Amino acid sequence: MTSFEQGWLEEGWRHVWLPYAQMQTAPLPLAAVRTAGSKIHLADGRVLVDGIASWWTSCHGYNHPHIIAAVTAQLQDMPHVMFGGLGHEPAYRLATRLAKLMPGTLNRVFFSDSGSVAVEVAMKIAVQARLNRGERGRTKVLAFLGGYHGDTFGTMAICDPEEGMHSLFAGLLQEHPVIALPRDAPSIAAFELFLEEHAGNLAAIIVEPLVQGAGGMVFHAPEVLQRLRAAADHYGLTLIFDEIFTGFGRTGTMFAFEHAGVLPDIVTLSKALTGGTSPLAVTIATDELFAAFLSDSAGTALQHGPTFMANPLGCAAANAGLDLFETEPRLAQAAAISAQLSRELAPCRELPGVRDVRVLGAIGVVQLERIENPAALRMALVEKGVWVRPFRDILYLTPALTIAADELAVLTRAIFEVVAAA
Ligand SMILES: *Cc1c(COP(=O)(O)O)cnc(C)c1O
Repeated sequence: MTSFEQGWLEEGWRHVWLPYAQMQTAPLPLAAVRTAGSKIHLADGRVLVDGIASWWTSCHGYNHPHIIAAVTAQLQDMPHVMFGGLGHEPAYRLATRLAKLMPGTLNRVFFSDSGSVAVEVAMKIAVQARLNRGERGRTKVLAFLGGYHGDTFGTMAICDPEEGMHSLFAGLLQEHPVIALPRDAPSIAAFELFLEEHAGNLAAIIVEPLVQGAGGMVFHAPEVLQRLRAAADHYGLTLIFDEIFTGFGRTGTMFAFEHAGVLPDIVTLSKALTGGTSPLAVTIATDELFAAFLSDSAGTALQHGPTFMANPLGCAAANAGLDLFETEPRLAQAAAISAQLSRELAPCRELPGVRDVRVLGAIGVVQLERIENPAALRMALVEKGVWVRPFRDILYLTPALTIAADELAVLTRAIFEVVAAA
């Protein structure tokens, strides 16, 4: 209450620049002062049930005591220390645990501080591994329409061309091929033809496994991933799975690739990695890729090193998060959420203006014909006591995996009611 009355929001509003917002028309944001579990407390005393877990990060719920305790202890000992030349237990332990969690030879962990940078590092590893082996001219990364891999210039180039604003920034962006996901007969034929003609220029294929998240929560079958793996093997390409959204139980398994029974050569993780506590990302590569960087020459070393690389607070949060996956029933919770989402969102199918209702793991989507005014819809949802952020033509729920059944019911009911009223 008090901070709100001090006017920090109105004063700061003249100075902040919001994400993805037309600042001329953007409404003043809601003032958030406290989080707990699946709830966001506002400065004016209202409490919202959170349907999106702060952009899919807080998978254990906000302020989980085990994570808070781990980060608090780390904060006392060593909030940060540079990673070049100094090692610390939180990061070395986390790397060991992530390597154990990953199947196959996905054993080498590179730390960074955001998902976009983790993807940039994945691209750099794929391309430089070839250069290190003396293979020139294979610098392109094949990506897919509807995909999203980040907002930096390198990752914009492998996003969906519209999402990545390819035409606006034409000439400035790297040029990578972006084609349809091979999901049906025509797109499979086009994919195979594309590879026959262009595989010689490619270093890698990148995909968000099972769910294109920021592109509109569009699902694809596990067979698509098997097809990509087979093609990558056939043409000797590095396969990158961007699990920044799908990782850590979101699709019902710990990682989305488990649905398909195939492994990538590189995995990127972030979002839920620290349970939404602080920014941290990792790029995990196979032993085989790592080996391509070993030589007697500094010239073949991976040239990357974020200032806050492997920040100990983030690593402590991530280790505590991994503890929770071991000690609390997260995947069972994801399954229960999945069943409840299927049951409670199904009635939306009968409403006018609804194009599709779909659920995968702890992701529930109601797709409309169109959303004219996402901000108005968002405020209608706030009136009902929920925090949901409609975008494109969808309303979606990606709650904390720890959300209580009655809280989830508040979310699904609010979505039904605003769609019915629209
Ligand atoms: C969010 C996201 C990113 C980018 O992560 P940032 O931390 O926002 O840079 C990349 N890939 C996928 C699949 C994402 O969902």
